[in-house]
Amino acid sequence: MAITILRLGHRIFRDQRITTHCGLTARALGAKEMYYTGEHDLGMEQSLEKAAAAWGGHFRVRYLEAPGPFLRTFHGKVVHLTAYGLPFQGKLAQLRRARSLLVIVGGEKVPPEIYQRADWNLAVGSQPHSEVAALGIVLYELTGRRFPARFTRAKLRIVPQARGKRMEQPRSSGPAPARGKARL
Ligand code: SAM
Repeated sequence: MAITILRLGHRIFRDQRITTHCGLTARALGAKEMYYTGEHDLGMEQSLEKAAAAWGGHFRVRYLEAPGPFLRTFHGKVVHLTAYGLPFQGKLAQLRRARSLLVIVGGEKVPPEIYQRADWNLAVGSQPHSEVAALGIVLYELTGRRFPARFTRAKLRIVPQARGKRMEQPRSSGPAPARGKARL
């Protein structure tokens, strides 16, 4: 399944961190790209591109001036995550059958046409919380069987530890560092 994210209504001053976290979460949980509308934010794009360059994979970020033309030409199923939607657990089987899935998360105010265009308006609990949390939970359910995802072209890889931090450079990413492994 190819998963694309659309984050609506990004504001540079207020949303930089949360939109970056949407992108990091999407990438880590197997989405291939994130589009966003609102204010064009090169700083946020660069921080996601930097993360993707270090940790691998092919995740990309793209700005859209408006969602309409993109939504009209998107081939696949569209799910909009909103606290006002139906419980997402009841639609997981249908979501998993999609070959290409667009997951939309909102910002301050989501325009009514998004609710109309979506194949499903789904809630992760009927309480307002966060786009990052909603995205993480739904993506985990969709990609969970192959989680943690493997990332090609990584320059860095975390070596899981019971305590402390350890990273290494995967062999395919180029020459090993002086002592083979980096410890933090
Ligand atoms: N007032 C906004 C609205 O009109 O929807 C809510 C803003 S909320 C902080 C930002 C986004 O988080 C929402 O657009 C939605 O995508 C996501 N979100 C928040 N709570 C959610 C929930 N319980 N289920 C699914 N998505 C949720």
